[in-house]
Amino acid sequence: MNKNSVYKLSYGLFVLTASEGDKDNGCIINTCAQVTSDPMQLAITVNKANLTHDMIKNTGVFNVSVIDNTAPFELFKHFGFRSGRDSMKFGTADSYRFAPKYADNGVLYVSAYANAFMSGKVVKEIDLGTHTMFIAEMTDGDILSDKPSMTYEYYHANVKQKPAAPKKSGWVCRICGYIYEGDVLPEDFVCPICKHGAEDFDKLG
Ligand code: FE
Repeated sequence: MNKNSVYKLSYGLFVLTASEGDKDNGCIINTCAQVTSDPMQLAITVNKANLTHDMIKNTGVFNVSVIDNTAPFELFKHFGFRSGRDSMKFGTADSYRFAPKYADNGVLYVSAYANAFMSGKVVKEIDLGTHTMFIAEMTDGDILSDKPSMTYEYYHANVKQKPAAPKKSGWVCRICGYIYEGDVLPEDFVCPICKHGAEDFDKLG
């Protein structure tokens, strides 16, 4: 089996947001799809390690912003490569560049570098082991710009950090472009930037 075949699937990229109590939070996902149109339902899949996951499980509501292809690497760093458990993703000076706005469901959504947003109300949860799939009725949504949506392929080709030629042999993180210099990548290595594990590294050269 060639596992790399899954890289030929086309994916978008999305900022998924949730609110619980006085905490607003968000993360990046690449799995959001419209699954039915009557009623209009969305499916999202979220890693259980994400705080946003627990907030959606507890509150049953979320917003999702469709990232457009003008989004800078900083958007992915801000929402994707750190946890809301130990950092603030909203309410800080650096978060305002992403133009957070409240939707009618009381949850923030990112309106900068996004061409649309949708609000979802969870109607079903499916436990997938590392992730939960939430099926949600779409309760609101709007188009924010006419810029093209960013695909995961575009992100890999144009947005993530370009690996500089390593002086020695090395390994590059497929998710964020971080380079580990050395012949052997430790099995338990965790990327210092995006926190993905050794399985997401490719040997350079
Ligand atoms: Fe990484």
